[in-house]
Amino acid sequence: MTRAYDEDSKYGLSTRGIHAGQRPDPTTGAIMPPIVQTSTFVQEALGVNKGYEYARGTNPTRQAFERNVASLEGGRHGFAFSSGMGCLTSLSLLFKSGDHIVCGENVYGGTYRLFDKILKNFGLTFSFVDTRDPQRIEDAMTAKTVAVLVETPTNPLMRITDIAAASAIAKRKKALLIVDNTFASPVFQQPLALGADVVYHSTTKYLNGHSDMIGGIALLNDDDLAARLQFIVNAAGAIPGPFDSWLAMRGTKTLALRMRQHDANGRQVAAWLEQRLGAERVFYAGLPSHPQHALATKQMSGFGGMISVEMKTKDDANTVLKRVRVFSLAESLGGVESLISHPASMTHASVELDRRTALGVTEGLIRLSVGVEDAEDLLADLEQALKGY
Ligand SMILES: *Cc1c(COP(=O)(O)O)cnc(C)c1O
Repeated sequence: MTRAYDEDSKYGLSTRGIHAGQRPDPTTGAIMPPIVQTSTFVQEALGVNKGYEYARGTNPTRQAFERNVASLEGGRHGFAFSSGMGCLTSLSLLFKSGDHIVCGENVYGGTYRLFDKILKNFGLTFSFVDTRDPQRIEDAMTAKTVAVLVETPTNPLMRITDIAAASAIAKRKKALLIVDNTFASPVFQQPLALGADVVYHSTTKYLNGHSDMIGGIALLNDDDLAARLQFIVNAAGAIPGPFDSWLAMRGTKTLALRMRQHDANGRQVAAWLEQRLGAERVFYAGLPSHPQHALATKQMSGFGGMISVEMKTKDDANTVLKRVRVFSLAESLGGVESLISHPASMTHASVELDRRTALGVTEGLIRLSVGVEDAEDLLADLEQALKGY
């Protein structure tokens, strides 16, 4: 018998990843949701349709994906976008000229670029603060603050923000707490349950997990906010196509399974790097030597595969990047294959040099996205790449 969508929430996370939001196709029985590759839907008469009119507003494949991730994050509403940045741009359209946003200083380079280089020109104002200390968030709030945006763990320095503390501060000032949950995924961190109003992802990363599409998604509970965001989806149009939605949804079926392996490999590689290079040069929230390990353990149930390593110079970093044979030099993260990158010249190239240096994104920093290959192969690859260091 077909389950009602609101029954999804009673199942565990692995079960929801596979089934939530998806039902056998009523016309054919196909177990996989069809890729509904259409721009428009025929209407039986004026105002009479099957719930779909024009695919910018809604599309059944996209809707199945949105319901699926909403269920994983414990949200009532999901809105998928054409990229993580398209998602954040659309969320920003909830605000208006004169509004103020408090944002973590060590966020994804593209987030800073969108705020500082584009949205500032439209009258939004921003304070970038070290959100590891909730007091800094509190101190930055003004009468015009409408939102607090945090990323935790941060990219690439793996700094942790206390989501519950940030939520309490935002609530007192009636501002929204928006959390970028791309690094942790809903498997290891549930921001809505910790008090966030909106959680979003670059689905390009762990949710899809196979490095074969670009996308974003926002999840939330508040019905009024959801209605405003649905209006923006339809009005601004930064939507993903049905095929990309379908690929990402195929990815979430194995999300829990993949995250377990990313986490096991990540812990092993981080522990090995710590032994090899010293704790002060390895950034991974799962290491007991991480300065915020206690907080990370309190709000996360695992740490995944993202690790940064400090080499002494850019030349040292470059040597490692050139020597690796299983890891590939590339931007992005969260796929089944291991990647290695140089944040200062790649993901964070759009952040000014003095700002980057002040944050700690040095020229020697390299970032690993540990995939789900055999851990021994990854360790052997790093061993040969680090020879002499
Ligand atoms: C990649 C990424 C983004 C941007 O997403 P795109 O899908 O590349 O547009 C935002 N936040 C984080 C943490 C990311 O890693």
